[in-house]
Amino acid sequence: MDTFLAHGLLNWPLWALIGIWLVTLHLTVVAVSLYLHRDQTHRAVRLHPVVRHFCRGWIWLTTATETREWVAVHRRHHSVVDHEGDPHSPRMFGLRTVLFGGVGLYRRAAGDPETLRIYGQGTPDDWLERRIYAGPGNIVGILLLMGLEVVLFGPLGLTLWAFQMMGIPILAAGVVNGLGHAVGYRNYDTPDLSHNILPWGVVCGGEELHNNHHAFPGSARFSQRYGEFDIGWMYLRVLSFLGLAEIERLAPADPKSVSLQDLVGYRAHLMSRYLKEVLRPTWRNVRRDGFRPSRRSRRLFWLSPKLLSESVADCATLESILDSQPALRTVYEFRVRLWHVWDSGAHTAERLENLREWLRQARTSGVRQLEYFSERVYQLVEQMSIEIVAQPTGG
Ligand SMILES: [Zn+2]
Ligand SMILES: [Zn+2]
Repeated sequence: MDTFLAHGLLNWPLWALIGIWLVTLHLTVVAVSLYLHRDQTHRAVRLHPVVRHFCRGWIWLTTATETREWVAVHRRHHSVVDHEGDPHSPRMFGLRTVLFGGVGLYRRAAGDPETLRIYGQGTPDDWLERRIYAGPGNIVGILLLMGLEVVLFGPLGLTLWAFQMMGIPILAAGVVNGLGHAVGYRNYDTPDLSHNILPWGVVCGGEELHNNHHAFPGSARFSQRYGEFDIGWMYLRVLSFLGLAEIERLAPADPKSVSLQDLVGYRAHLMSRYLKEVLRPTWRNVRRDGFRPSRRSRRLFWLSPKLLSESVADCATLESILDSQPALRTVYEFRVRLWHVWDSGAHTAERLENLREWLRQARTSGVRQLEYFSERVYQLVEQMSIEIVAQPTGG
């Protein structure tokens, strides 16, 4: 009896319990990423009902998270990302608040009926959801898990449970929502602060590649560049092979060179090429010529222009940098205008015309990198125009 009270039924050593913690935490992270995020929120993949039921049950057992709430809060995040109304933006609340108080921010957003009404459409509404997962039985899952682990492992089981309960609040609400908008690198010039925290998405199930995700929210695969790894995508491939998942949408893999597709279909790709081939080299050139910007100026220059426009002081600082460096002003203004190429034309032909106008001016801008870039894009636009003209009518 004494042994049972001290060690539970199984009397397993500490290392085995650590193993259970790691495996169950990973399973939870992957269930959240695959089911709540990629399947329910973005419809990038269609998981088989068996997988969906497993994920729903597992998430209930280990996190007490309701699908509709999670989906609604996350869709709201995407719709107003890093602006007023974003439920957990470090830009609005401060990184420390999101890192350590992410759960509170999530709860506040999930408790807003308007958020649930507008963004929570299309999530499960069956008996299980109404009566158990999102109903009165919502917290029964985590209590059941606690009871089971105490019976199996004694007091250490309670410790294991406490660690399991901390997993998602730290990794999802804190790390992905906080660091994913503050720390790391950016592949894409998205109008937000999203960053890829690491190129290897393992610990957070692939969610580390957060800038890639904001560039292509509807893509089932988060990795984009050579050397990046998304473990969630690896599992999806396995599930798909077994007939347990259908991949609905994928972002095109990052092309080796500017392609026709980039020009009209994927603003993120062309903006990212602009960043790499025009903005960075021009920035390096002026630095080489003795330009020494302050840390704040540097941050403002690289910030998405969409995030800058709200602060008068920031605008003034940026203006002073651009005034002192005409080449930077040119590439910065062309960056803003390139973004708007996609805003003003809903159809391929309109976008092409907008892009042509942009190119006409960029090719004689006087900034070498911009002229190289626009010349190459110009060739493709011409080629594309010929193909569009050559297509049969009604295509
Ligand atoms: Zn985000
Ligand atoms: Zn998302």
